[in-house]
Amino acid sequence: MSAIKKNLDQILADISMLNKHTQQTTQLLAVSKTKPASDVEIAYLAGQRLFGENYVQEGVEKIAQLKHLTDIQWHFIGPLQSNKTRLVAENFAWMQSLEREKIAQRLNQHRPEHMQPLNVCIQVNISKESSKSGVTPEQVEPLAEAIQNLKRLKLRGLMAIPINSQDTQVVSQHFKQLETLYQKLKATHKGIDTLSMGMSGDMHEAIRQGSTMVRIGTAIFGPRTNRH
Ligand SMILES: *Cc1c(COP(=O)(O)O)cnc(C)c1O
Repeated sequence: MSAIKKNLDQILADISMLNKHTQQTTQLLAVSKTKPASDVEIAYLAGQRLFGENYVQEGVEKIAQLKHLTDIQWHFIGPLQSNKTRLVAENFAWMQSLEREKIAQRLNQHRPEHMQPLNVCIQVNISKESSKSGVTPEQVEPLAEAIQNLKRLKLRGLMAIPINSQDTQVVSQHFKQLETLYQKLKATHKGIDTLSMGMSGDMHEAIRQGSTMVRIGTAIFGPRTNRH
């Protein structure tokens, strides 16, 4: 059995065990950034369908290489500059790292008519670190309203990369705050069903605090060596 399949089986077993104690089922997004298309194909053959990419050019190349896998679902999860919005709108099913109205408008404008509306999540900077992307909790509601006026986008929820801390108390506090923010958004907008939080190092805690989608790279594909 390949290491990738073995890792996937282990993570899915962990998720299913943790979900026995939570209200929702957590989906697994396999983060394949810096990994070759052949690794994605191995994971696909093992049953994985949701994949995440951080870099536009790399993601678009992999999507083209794997277009024979027709039911694969690609999520963009990295920082996006306004001159790359067309590539994301034309190639991805989801864009999880939305943090500016201007980017939302451009994605809306570039989403091709023959495709389903682009699913989007608002990225929140819950730990308020200046180095992190994302809007403040106070900016979520105005951005959500702007997105709901854009016909080619479909608002699905929130995404966050909390602080990278050894202090599990702090991390779990941040996950809790995100969950509260998510419930607020859900109460005021239709179609909200995604709270994307949790990575290889903090997946268990994220699920305990209500994550509906974990984004896992290293624990599936191994450490990343190539640099960008
Ligand atoms: C790289 C990345 C991940 C996956 O991180 P791992 O620690 O390798 O699991 C998840 N989310 C985002 C936004 C990332 O950039």
